[in-house]
Amino acid sequence: MNSLASVDMKAIAPQLMTYPIVEIFHSLQGEGTWTGMSAFFIRLAGCDVHCPWCDQKESWTSKIYPQQSIKTLAEAAKAANPAMVVITGGEPLMYDLFPLTKALKKLGLRVHLETSGAYPFSGQFDWVTLSPKPFKVPHESIYPQVNELKVVITNQEDFHWAEEQEKKVPPQALKYLQPEWNYPESQSLIFDYIRKAPQWRMSLQIHKFLGVR
Ligand code: SF4
Repeated sequence: MNSLASVDMKAIAPQLMTYPIVEIFHSLQGEGTWTGMSAFFIRLAGCDVHCPWCDQKESWTSKIYPQQSIKTLAEAAKAANPAMVVITGGEPLMYDLFPLTKALKKLGLRVHLETSGAYPFSGQFDWVTLSPKPFKVPHESIYPQVNELKVVITNQEDFHWAEEQEKKVPPQALKYLQPEWNYPESQSLIFDYIRKAPQWRMSLQIHKFLGVR
C-alpha cells in the first residue's frame, strides 16, 4: 500500500497521494504491440512474485525508494510529451492505481499498464499488458481487462503455462511469447512453436538489444 494507507485517505487531496517509485524515465517502448513508440515509464517499487530470472530485482522492496506524489508524477509525464505513459514495476497492482491513472488521463495522456496480475485490478487504462507468472498466479479480475498477453519463455515447460493463460484472456487479446534475455535458447523454441501455433507472435526486448532502459 502507499505510504498514506494508514491515515484517512478521504482527508487527502488525490494529487498529494504518493507511491514508492524506483524510477521514472522517457524511452521507447521495447516490448509488445507498441514497440518503438515514445513512452514515459513510471516504475513502482514492490513485488512479491519473485521470478527467479527477474531483471528488476532491485524493485522488489518498496522501503528503500522515495515516495513521489501523483502531482509530481503526472507533471513529469506530461512534460515528456510521450505517446503513452507505461505504469510498470515491480508489481504495480500492489497499489490502488485509480488515483494515479485518473490524474494522468486528466492531462490527456494515454495510459498503459504492465502487470503480472498478481493483485486485484485497479485503474483506468487505455491498454493492459498481462505478463502472468506461475510463481504467483494472476488474480481473476485481470483477465477481462487484457489487451495483450505476454508470456516469458525460458524452456519448453513454459509453453504449457502460455496455453493455460491463453484460454483465460479475451479472444481478441494479442498474444506474445517473449524469450527471457538470459536464456537465448528460448528464441529458437519460440520460433519453432509459433510456426505451429500462428495465433502467437514473438516479442523481443529491443531496449536490451539497443543497450538502453
Ligand atoms: S513480476 Fe516482474 S518485477 Fe516481479 S519478480 Fe516477476 S519479473 Fe520481476
